[in-house]
Amino acid sequence: MGILEKMRLDGKKAFVTGGARGIGKSIAIALAEAGADVAIVDIDIAEAEKTAEMIAKNTGVNTFALKVDITVKEDVDNMISEMIKRFGRVDVAFCNAGICMEIPAEEMTFEEWYKVINTNLNGTFLTAQAAGKAMIAQGEGGSIICTASMSAHIVNVPQPQCSYNASKAAIIQLCKSLAIEWADHNIRVNTISPGYIGTELTLNSPDLAPLIDTWNEMAPLHRMGNPDELQSIAVYLAGDTSSFTTGADFIIDGAFTCF
Ligand code: NDP
Repeated sequence: MGILEKMRLDGKKAFVTGGARGIGKSIAIALAEAGADVAIVDIDIAEAEKTAEMIAKNTGVNTFALKVDITVKEDVDNMISEMIKRFGRVDVAFCNAGICMEIPAEEMTFEEWYKVINTNLNGTFLTAQAAGKAMIAQGEGGSIICTASMSAHIVNVPQPQCSYNASKAAIIQLCKSLAIEWADHNIRVNTISPGYIGTELTLNSPDLAPLIDTWNEMAPLHRMGNPDELQSIAVYLAGDTSSFTTGADFIIDGAFTCF
């Protein structure tokens, strides 16, 4: 069997949080194109349903959409129950949903701080924990992939986003910890750290969109990334050709963090 066939995900059952749009949508499309059945999990159920229908129509795999707030444990537990009910198992967990707020540290309320940490760190923990428990019970391993950010490695400028940066750095260390704890279960846990990617979060944010020209001047490639440029690393990490890859972080940033 050639390498491209070995990378296929036929028969695997995956979910993607924040899968309705942006990076999550692009990755869900890639997992489906590689053959996996994919649940589109998002707080925005209307958009999630559109994405799930589009993927099923274009690829022929099984999909479903589910409304989940990743910060609510009951929602996350229900997501695992629905995966088992509809797909029979969980092989690939893509914990991707996240938010960003640009507020100077000295002006930030505790509620604003907590909202970002609760979504990005606590929500990612709840999602990865629930997936890990299901995979341990199944006894056949699995792959958990979480979206961190280049903001885990550098302090972005000029925007002030200390809660986001802290939350993303914590996600990397969380995933390394889970990789160690679950290594004996053959559950691999890795992170992807994208640089600036053109999505709603950046292109349509009133705080961030005006900064795009500045970022592009700083960027070695003089542009933002496209969500599709994260698809191949996601398929690699989801599948069996990455069987020796765990506890790793993949910076996909067009060399933004190199200097
Ligand atoms: P988008 O805002 O375009 O999409 C995120 C999706 O997640 C939205 O559909 C959003 O719904 C949903 N979501 C938000 N909060 C929750 C929640 N509590 N539970 C479930 N779903 C939720 O973001 P991106 O695609 O740009 O980003 C995806 C991930 O990638 C995030 O973790 C982000 O931090 C990270 N990232 C993004 C980069 C970028 O430049 N775009 C760079 C590096 C990392 P709704 O809109 O209704 O809130």
